Amino acid sequence: MPCIVCGKEHVNVYSKIAPINGGQPEIRAYCQHCFITTFGEDDPMVIEIRAMQKENREKQISEKIARDMQQLRTHFRFKIEELIARNPRFSFESYEFIYASLTRAVHDMKPDPQTRGRHASAAELVRACEQQARHAWGDNARAHAQSLGFSTSSDIRDIVFYLVENGCLGRRKDDNRADFDGLPFFTSI
Ligand SMILES: [Zn+2]
Repeated sequence: MPCIVCGKEHVNVYSKIAPINGGQPEIRAYCQHCFITTFGEDDPMVIEIRAMQKENREKQISEKIARDMQQLRTHFRFKIEELIARNPRFSFESYEFIYASLTRAVHDMKPDPQTRGRHASAAELVRACEQQARHAWGDNARAHAQSLGFSTSSDIRDIVFYLVENGCLGRRKDDNRADFDGLPFFTSI
């Protein structure tokens, strides 16, 4: 049964319309996109679809972060330990946190056709840091981030630029230290 709105074959949402004069209810098929645009965000099934999308997205991010952390602990361990030896301000866990947040920040981005990389802005990264902390440490998120050396967006800037200066992170021409100034990081609690 194709989508009743756009005609696409990949339908996955069905809506039962009860006929006014009794009898068999009419079943209408929608693709997910058309169902949401037809019934709107307040529809209970749309709310369910959104929750499922969010859960799937979080699952994908968590799996990607787990793979990246594995890489960090194996292939990049030596390099990170060298950085820590030269500047003990941040710990191995601090680097894990920043790389996990970077993975989270670029998750929904399409690769840049020029660099074939995905690049988060300062604001996107700082926002992802807070999300990653909340996801990983829940109620203890802010305190734990602080224990790793991240109290403000300037601390995030410092580790990012330390990584950039040491060739561990790519830099674009328009990246600026000032971009990190005063960005909201756990300011709402
Ligand atoms: Zn459709």
